[in-house]
Amino acid sequence: MNSDFVLTTCPFCGTGCNFYLEVEDGEIKGVVPCKTHPVSRGKLCVLGRSAHKFVQHPERLKNPLVKKNGRFFETDWNTALKEISERLKKIIEKYGPDSVGIISSAKCTNEENYLIMKFARAAVGTNNIDHCARLCHSSTVEGLRQAFGAGAMTNSITEIDQAECIFITGSNTTSQHPLVASWIISAKQKGARLIVADPRSIPISRYADIYLRIKPGTNIALINGLLHVIIKEGLIDRSFISERTQGFQEIEETVKRYDPDYVSSITGASKELIEKAAILYARSRSMLFYAMGITQHINGTDNVKAIANLSLATGNIGKPATGVNPLRGQNNVQGACDMGALPDVLTGYRRVDDEDARRVFEKEWGVPVPEKKGLTLVEMMNEAEKGSLKAMIIFGENPAISDPDISHVKKALSSLELLVVVDIFLTETAELAHFVLPASSFAEKDGTFTNTDRRVQRVRKAIDPVGNSMPDWKIVCEIAERIGAKGFNYSSPKQIMDEIRRLTPSYAGITYERLESGETIQWPCPSEDHPGTPFLYKDGFPIGKARFFSVEHTQIKPSDKYPFILITGRCPFHFHTGSITRKIERLENEVNEGYVEISRRDAERLGIKEGDTVEVISETGKIEIKAYVSEEIEPGVIFIPMHFKESPANMLVSRKLDPFSKIPNFKACAVNVKRK
Ligand code: SF4
Repeated sequence: MNSDFVLTTCPFCGTGCNFYLEVEDGEIKGVVPCKTHPVSRGKLCVLGRSAHKFVQHPERLKNPLVKKNGRFFETDWNTALKEISERLKKIIEKYGPDSVGIISSAKCTNEENYLIMKFARAAVGTNNIDHCARLCHSSTVEGLRQAFGAGAMTNSITEIDQAECIFITGSNTTSQHPLVASWIISAKQKGARLIVADPRSIPISRYADIYLRIKPGTNIALINGLLHVIIKEGLIDRSFISERTQGFQEIEETVKRYDPDYVSSITGASKELIEKAAILYARSRSMLFYAMGITQHINGTDNVKAIANLSLATGNIGKPATGVNPLRGQNNVQGACDMGALPDVLTGYRRVDDEDARRVFEKEWGVPVPEKKGLTLVEMMNEAEKGSLKAMIIFGENPAISDPDISHVKKALSSLELLVVVDIFLTETAELAHFVLPASSFAEKDGTFTNTDRRVQRVRKAIDPVGNSMPDWKIVCEIAERIGAKGFNYSSPKQIMDEIRRLTPSYAGITYERLESGETIQWPCPSEDHPGTPFLYKDGFPIGKARFFSVEHTQIKPSDKYPFILITGRCPFHFHTGSITRKIERLENEVNEGYVEISRRDAERLGIKEGDTVEVISETGKIEIKAYVSEEIEPGVIFIPMHFKESPANMLVSRKLDPFSKIPNFKACAVNVKRK
């Protein structure tokens, strides 16, 4: 039997490893790493090695489902699409376009995200379009856009090898971006120095030259403290600050108060280590990496701005192997943002309230683009519960597990007059829908993903769609045409990419022909003869001068009623809401239930033993979960992975939001723990 090997991109984390899907007689038999890929270099983590296991899973949705009297029945595409479009049209006519909310997906391709965004704006007529970046890196998009002009990694994963110092904060890198961690460990073995700041003793901290164990939510105090030492020691880059930045005097004044003694009292890290870390970072060519330990806070945007301040003050930006590098969580969350699947921007981050930007899109699409900023994901749920949002179409996302305050989310979704979920499995969100449409997985369609270092790469069809499923881009076109929208008659993802390129200067030079020849191209790539951009801001910032922002420490404090701080996050064997990884036996065999990690000291004080069932209670909700007693976590802090519907961590997280990015506070929620 002959096998075909189809080169494609991993559907899990934002690292964007490439591998071959081995196909025999229309069946995917395995995954073979790609040795020539610049990021993955022939390696894959446990998720990538299992990426084929869910594609032909028996529980895949194979036909559209319609709910009648509380039960789902299979139906055909024509019936489902006709009913959906008639009901959607009636809702738009009766309540207006802003009564509809669309959720796009970081699992979908760029071409699909573009079309879903176009569907919201050009077919429905609303800017109510968002996706899960709201929950992970919206504070990056906002904070780095204001500081530098673009919300993306400034440098490349492949530059890690040349860094003299690597500073990781708020990223459990070995667990969430294992291949990035392997680059960092290899750079360390070649002589790079490593600083890690995190509330938990995570695996990468064992490689650190300096490990700063900080209390949750004290990131701004730490960064301001590092800047205090750097200024005091005369280690700022004066010529960079004067030529390429503005606002330094203001932060110089602010950080005067953050001397190492004060910062140590807030963060719990020792004064000596704070001083050592500051000097090491400032004296080296330093790359800073962060993830959701920085972004998912009620002051997430300020956390990101503090990090930008640190890099600007030391001139650690605009050169190879330096910079500010947010590690994006899902495979195509960078691309979904680039494609404008956000309520305030079009593709390439052009704002909807910018008339010139709207005109460009209106000319291409032939319809007006709404000017008023739309609702974010969390705001859509609030409006649905209040009754002003009447219909939602959700592509590949599972807010009934991933969003804060799950009881409220379920109530909100259940109040809608029309809920359509497009997915590959019957998720917890799909169970609440009036219609569920079966989508095709990454292995059944063509397109592109953009990874965390802005690298646009091909996704290639290896097998025909499972059952009667359809790629999301075809589903969008079907609904758009049935509600009377023009301009949704595409024959291929390549044709969609050509439209993206016409509208998006940073993608203008990225053609399927170039990607077909095996190139991976990092945006901005303004023309077909441009090689792409491995690191940003060599010749300047798109906003003219980069901006310092004065930011102050604020912190969620525990109380007598809720004396613990809960951090939520991932475990190495599962991804997002577990809707895919929990279908993979090998991963489920590793970890098949949620757990609360609690320090030995707290466990002994409360009479909790390993494996006991405990109650975790917050202002928002309560869950029961097994205890995992650990030496790796500070007393007063607990950790719960977010993947498990049986003990959903987000039942506990409140709907309080960062005022700028509207990101929820997943990383510092006050809770209590009680033995059952
Ligand atoms: Fe896939 Fe990320 Fe693992 Fe690479 S590191 S194989 S992209 S999950």
